[in-house]
Amino acid sequence: MNQKSERYSRQVLFAPLSKGGQDRLASSCAVVVGCGALGSVSAMALVRAGVGTVRLIDRDFPELSNLQRQVLFDEDDVSAGIPKSVAAAHHLKKMNSEVIVVPIVADITHRNAVDLLGECDVIIDGTDNFETRYLLNEVACQRGIPWVHGGAIGAEGRVMTVIPGQSACLRCLVPDPPQPGTLPTCDTSGILGTASMVIGALQATEAIKLLSGNAADVITGLTAIDLWTGQWQRVSLKSLSVRGCPTCREHDFPWLEGRFQSTARVLCGREAVQIDPLQRSSPIDLEQLAKRLSLLGRVVSNPWLVRFEVEPGLSLSIFSDGRTIVSGTREEPRARALVARYLGA
Ligand SMILES: [Zn+2]
Repeated sequence: MNQKSERYSRQVLFAPLSKGGQDRLASSCAVVVGCGALGSVSAMALVRAGVGTVRLIDRDFPELSNLQRQVLFDEDDVSAGIPKSVAAAHHLKKMNSEVIVVPIVADITHRNAVDLLGECDVIIDGTDNFETRYLLNEVACQRGIPWVHGGAIGAEGRVMTVIPGQSACLRCLVPDPPQPGTLPTCDTSGILGTASMVIGALQATEAIKLLSGNAADVITGLTAIDLWTGQWQRVSLKSLSVRGCPTCREHDFPWLEGRFQSTARVLCGREAVQIDPLQRSSPIDLEQLAKRLSLLGRVVSNPWLVRFEVEPGLSLSIFSDGRTIVSGTREEPRARALVARYLGA
């Protein structure tokens, strides 16, 4: 038995997958959007399973409070300020060098969503906000790409697989984005690492079905689980998928067309605000910026970002595309003021 067949021998023994399914996995591409708790788990499962190409997209860097549930990072990644997608790719390549792992440090917006997501066979939702999820949903529905929505909070989680043209989409289920502050977040309710591990594993399993030629076995509807009470529910969405929906029926894509967007947002689970600049024509010269800011205070820099400590507990992390994460505050005006003060933006 050669190395390749030995690596996947137990998986191929699973009859629904078999050799044919394994070959299909090897020639497919999955995009994991967000390398947090759910994205870490699903990316790891897909890489270990032998999906040919796994693209990782994330805008953030790991923090100590992430390590409890974000299984692809360690303490060294936190202290070095390595962006999540880069750190994740580094660890994943050591798990399976046969897989092409492509890290992308970027925030998905209407401007880049089609480029980042368009050429793939499945999209995995590892995001933490509805704005990005609507964007994924619209790219998926426009391009006919299946995607696997997931979310976890406390000990609970949910999974929904969207196959455009066949099943209900996210907007069928949630027609309008929830108002900020109306839903629990990992900030307000906390999260068990085990909850995100189960949801991430379910998402990866759905993706493996889709990629291995087993789309008929995809779980239809919404799966909602509570690990603490042991309740598992399957909610049928059949009635939703037959009624009108602006996105999957009428092909109206307001998020993708930039009609709905924001330029500042509080990051889930963090004392942090991300500020998106007005569109820049060229990337920021991070080396120059690091030099300039180091005159004012402590600076950590690497090829992807410059982190500047304004005062203990308050810092700016500036990425080359101009995005800035202000850590240490949840107040948008304060974040904007700091960006204006130190970056002139
Ligand atoms: Zn829909």
